[in-house]
Amino acid sequence: MGDAPANRAAELRELLERYNHAYYVLDDPLVPDAEYDRLFNELKDLEQARPELADPDSPTQRVGAKPLDAFSQVAHRVPMLSLENAFSDDELVDFDRRVRERLNTPGPITYCAEPKLDGLAVSLRYESGALVQAATRGDGATGEDITHNIRTIRAIPLRLRGAGVPAILEVRGEVYMPRDGFERLNEKRRNQDQKTFANPRNAAAGSLRQLDSRITAERPLTMYCYGVGEVSDEFTASRYSELIQRLGEWGLRISPLMEPIEGLQGCIDYYNRLAEQRDGLDYDIDGIVYKVDDLDQQRRLGFVSRAPRWAIARKFPAQEQLTRLLAIDVQVGRTGTLTPVARLEPVEVAGVTVTNATLHNEDEIRRKDVRIGDLVVVRRAGDVIPQIVGVAPDRRPDDAQTFVFPDHCPECGSDVIRDSDQAVVRCSGGLFCPAQRKEAIKHFASRRAMDIDGLGDKLVAQLVERELIHSPADLYALSAEQLAGLERMGEKSAHNLVAALEKSKQTTLERFLFALGIREVGETTAKTLAKHFRDLKAVETADQEALIAVPDVGPIVADHVHTFFRQPHNLEVVQQLLAAGIHWPEIPQDPAADQPLAGKTIVITGTLSRPRNEIKEQLEALGAKVTGSVSKKTDYLLAGEEAGSKRDKAEKLGVEIVGEGWLGEWGA
Ligand code: NAD
Repeated sequence: MGDAPANRAAELRELLERYNHAYYVLDDPLVPDAEYDRLFNELKDLEQARPELADPDSPTQRVGAKPLDAFSQVAHRVPMLSLENAFSDDELVDFDRRVRERLNTPGPITYCAEPKLDGLAVSLRYESGALVQAATRGDGATGEDITHNIRTIRAIPLRLRGAGVPAILEVRGEVYMPRDGFERLNEKRRNQDQKTFANPRNAAAGSLRQLDSRITAERPLTMYCYGVGEVSDEFTASRYSELIQRLGEWGLRISPLMEPIEGLQGCIDYYNRLAEQRDGLDYDIDGIVYKVDDLDQQRRLGFVSRAPRWAIARKFPAQEQLTRLLAIDVQVGRTGTLTPVARLEPVEVAGVTVTNATLHNEDEIRRKDVRIGDLVVVRRAGDVIPQIVGVAPDRRPDDAQTFVFPDHCPECGSDVIRDSDQAVVRCSGGLFCPAQRKEAIKHFASRRAMDIDGLGDKLVAQLVERELIHSPADLYALSAEQLAGLERMGEKSAHNLVAALEKSKQTTLERFLFALGIREVGETTAKTLAKHFRDLKAVETADQEALIAVPDVGPIVADHVHTFFRQPHNLEVVQQLLAAGIHWPEIPQDPAADQPLAGKTIVITGTLSRPRNEIKEQLEALGAKVTGSVSKKTDYLLAGEEAGSKRDKAEKLGVEIVGEGWLGEWGA
C-alpha cells in the first residue's frame, strides 16, 4: 500500500512542477489559478501535518521558476519574493495577529493597501538616474535580462527626474497589460489564426519575455511600481507609503489606489471598497496586498523562504474555475441563431454557482478543442455571462467526445444554414420554428411588410404565449371575439384589427416576399426578386443558379432564399397564407425584357465621340442596365479612348471589352 500521504505529496509536487513550467516558462497555463492554489494549499497542509515530508525543493518553498537560457541572467542583489496568500477574512485575522505578536505590540498596525495587479514582477536598476538594467523575477534569486524589452515601454522612464534620486536605485513593480489592450491583442491573434492568450497576465509575461524587442514594442504594456531592491545609503524613508511617493516624484508610475490604512478593520473596509471597483478598473487585479507601512517594523519582521512576513495578498474569489463539461446543448435564439451552451457540473465562480456557460459558436468549440467530458475553465467576470475559456488538456478523460454541430434545428427540424461570416449557424424554418415565432410574426406585421395596423409587439407576444397563433397564417383565422378577450383589448380595437388584417390581404409580391423574413432578404432584394420572377411560384422553385443570375443577388442570399423554400414547414405556411386570401396584382412584363440587350449589365468608360448620357439612354432602350463600376456581374465594358482603371479591372475579371462601334451591331 505504501505511505498514502507521502505518495500524495509526491504526486502534488509533480503536478505543481508541471503547472509551474507551463505558467512561468511557457506563459500558457494548463489550469486556472484557483486549481493551482487548491493543489498548492493541499501540499502545504500535508507538509505541515507531516514535517518529515517537508522538502526544501518543494514548490511550496520556492518562488517562480528558473530563468530561460535564451536570456542572459541577472542575479538579484536583494531577492525578489512572492507573497503569502489569504483566501478568507479568517486568514487575514491570523496574519494580523502574527504580525502583532512578532512585533510585540497590541496594535493596531498601520498597513499600506494597494491592488494586487495581475502581471509580471520586474526589477529596474537605475544608476545615477539612468535605467541600466531590467530583469524578471525568475526564481527569486536569478531573473532574465529583459532590458531591451523594458526600454520599449513608454510608461517606464529611461531617466529619472527630480531631486534626490539615489546613485543606485532598484525599483520593483508589476508590468501588466490593460484589459482593452489585451482584448485588442487577442482579437488580432484570432484574426491571424494564432493562439490567443488565456488572460492579461499571460499576455504581459509572454510579451515581455521576447527575444525580439520589436514584438514587445507592439504590445500595450504599462507598469505600476510597488517596492525597491538595492538602494544606495543616502536614501532614507521611514514608511513604505512615503518611499512609494518618492518613486512617483521621480517619474515612476505608482498606483493612485495605494493608501495607508489602520489595522484589521481598515484592511477589511479597503477590500470591500476595491471589490466594488474591481470590474470598473481597466486592468485585472486578483486581490489586495497589505504591507506593514513602517519600514523599521518590516525589517524586524523579515521573511521566510518564499515571502516576506510583513505582507499578505488577500485574494478575491477566483473568476476562473475548473469543472466538468457534462453536455453541449444547442439553443435557438429568437432570430434563429443556434448557440451551443455548455452544461456544467455546478461550480462556484466569483461567488455564484454556475451550471451553464456559453460556447459562442461552432468555430469557438473547434478552436478551443472543447470536448464533452473535459475539465473546462469557466470564467465569470462582472456582469458578463459565464464563458468557457479553455480546457485542461492534461486532464482529458479517454472517453471525451468531440461535439458534432447539428445540421437540423433542434426546435423545428428545419435545415440549418451558415451566415455570410460562416461562424453563425441559423435555422432556416423562420416561418414555422417555435423559437422564432414572435420575431417572425412581428416582422410579418410590420409597416414595411404586411402593414397590419394595430398589431403591436405586446399583442403578438400575448397571442403567441396564449398559443392562439403559431405562425403568421394563423393571424387571419383570428376572430374579433377571440381578440376582444385579450388584455388591453376593447371590442373596438378588436374589430379594427380584424379589419386591418383583412385590408393587409391586398398587398404586393415584393411586400409579401419581404414579410416572409428570409434571412438577408431586405426590402430591396425582395423588390428585385419580385421584379425578376414576377411570380411567387417562380421564386419558390428557382434553383441557386437562377437566383444568382438576378442582379444584386449574391451566392449567400441565393442560398438563403433557396434553403428557405426547401423547408416543407415554410411552404405549408406560405400555402396557408395564400389560402387565407392574400393576393397581389400581377406584375406586368418589363417592356425591356424582349429587347436584344435585356438582362445585360454594361459599364461605360473612357472618352467617347458622343455624350455619355446619350449612349446610356440608347443602351437602356435596348434593354441593358448601365451601372457605374465593373464587377463579376458586368457583361460588357464599353470603352472609349484613354480608358483607365475600369478597363484594367474588366481585363482582370475577364469581362468582354467592346468599343463604340459595337453599338452599331444593335442598330444604335
Ligand atoms: P502571487 O502572484 O500570488 O504574489 C506575488 C506577486 O504578486 C509578486 O511577485 C508580484 O509580482 C505580484 N504583485 C502584484 N501586485 C503587487 C503589489 N501591489 N505589491 C507586491 N506584489 C505585487 O505569487 P507568485 O509567486 O507570483 O505566483 C503564484 C501564483 O501564481 C499562484 O498563487 C497561482 O495563482 C499562480 N500560478 C498559477 C499557475 C497555473 O498553472 N495556473 C501556476 C503557477 C502559479
